[in-house]
Amino acid sequence: MSESDRPSNEAGSLHDESVCARGGWFEEFTTRPSNPPLYQTTAFDLHGVEQLDAVTSAAEHGYIYTRDGNPNHSAFAADVAALEHAEAGAVCASGMGAVSAIFLSHLKTGDHVVAGRILYGRTSQQLGELQRRFGVEVTFCDANSPDALSSAVRQTTKLCLIESISNPLMEVVDLPAVVTAMGEVPVVVDNTFATPCLFRPIDHGAAIIFHSASKYLNGHGDVMLGVVAGNHHAVTRVRRITSLFGLNANPFECWLASRGLRTLPLRVRQASQNALAVATFLASHAAISRVYYPGLSSHASYEIAQRLLPDGAGGMVSFELKAGESGVRPLFRKLVETIPFSPTLADVRTTVSWPAGTSHKFMDPDERRAWGISDGLIRLSVGIDSVDDVITELDAALNQLP
Ligand SMILES: *Cc1c(COP(=O)(O)O)cnc(C)c1O
Repeated sequence: MSESDRPSNEAGSLHDESVCARGGWFEEFTTRPSNPPLYQTTAFDLHGVEQLDAVTSAAEHGYIYTRDGNPNHSAFAADVAALEHAEAGAVCASGMGAVSAIFLSHLKTGDHVVAGRILYGRTSQQLGELQRRFGVEVTFCDANSPDALSSAVRQTTKLCLIESISNPLMEVVDLPAVVTAMGEVPVVVDNTFATPCLFRPIDHGAAIIFHSASKYLNGHGDVMLGVVAGNHHAVTRVRRITSLFGLNANPFECWLASRGLRTLPLRVRQASQNALAVATFLASHAAISRVYYPGLSSHASYEIAQRLLPDGAGGMVSFELKAGESGVRPLFRKLVETIPFSPTLADVRTTVSWPAGTSHKFMDPDERRAWGISDGLIRLSVGIDSVDDVITELDAALNQLP
């Protein structure tokens, strides 16, 4: 065929409706695109029933329907699996989609989960739903207390779920100790805050990791995406669920995240360095009563961070104002032009958030306070903008507080 595979219509035999509705693609060529093309398609045309059989039996490599798989899914999942030292990966529509896919593929009524006490608020909330509505039992415990963990294990325990660096108090989990305490129980790690550039849970014995790829992996604040990685068996189970329950990702989100991932090590290294400088500055500021950053010796996880995160403690810093909750609104108003209040994290720019009103809003307030997440806690996501500017802007805003 000619340059494009569009059938000729020189004789005018096709109606305009057909020319338009069918389009001109597909063009076959032998050079490779330098970057992965975007396969923004619902389905893939088959040469016939023979090819359908060949693809479904895996005799031939192909894609059929994007809910079941798409090359942009595969490209991003494979990169993340490689970074995490995992055998395989699978994408999901969001980080919460990844949590759902792991639970739905590994749990049934009557099963038991051991979970870290402090998790992303929505993850705790999802565990609560499983408990109340689906008869899954959950024990929350301090992830850094091996005794609490091992005494929580029952015959029916199917999973242990923790965060490598917990949100929002930045506790670093001593993963080797957790894996030992859990024995045969697979440990699932939310590695969103650490990223594989700072910490690879699978190297320390985790069975499955997942990310909100909406955060560092994409890193540009323009994507909703989740990803799971682990061994072939676990990931196959997860893929079956993402396809069956419709949790799969959009190809365009994967395409964007694949591009974002190209600079992940540079971004994480810089954000981590900047965060240490910002945390050090905040710790000496008169308006601040407490700083949570595992790279500071004042943090409860400092020793663990020194051992497990030798390349940096990440870009996330939390702090409390001496003024408490009453200082939050004035501070955010002062910062609005420079360090915006944005209830996400891991953008290239520095942003600020308020866990009690956003990520941890759905927790019982008394429980939330008891776990150390005060109503005045502020969480900074330090980006790769100039750390000198960020410190100057924070200083100016803090100095204007009543
Ligand atoms: C944001 C986040 C999630 C949820 O991910 P979404 O992509 O927003 O669904 C889960 N865990 C952590 C630690 C997060 O920061």
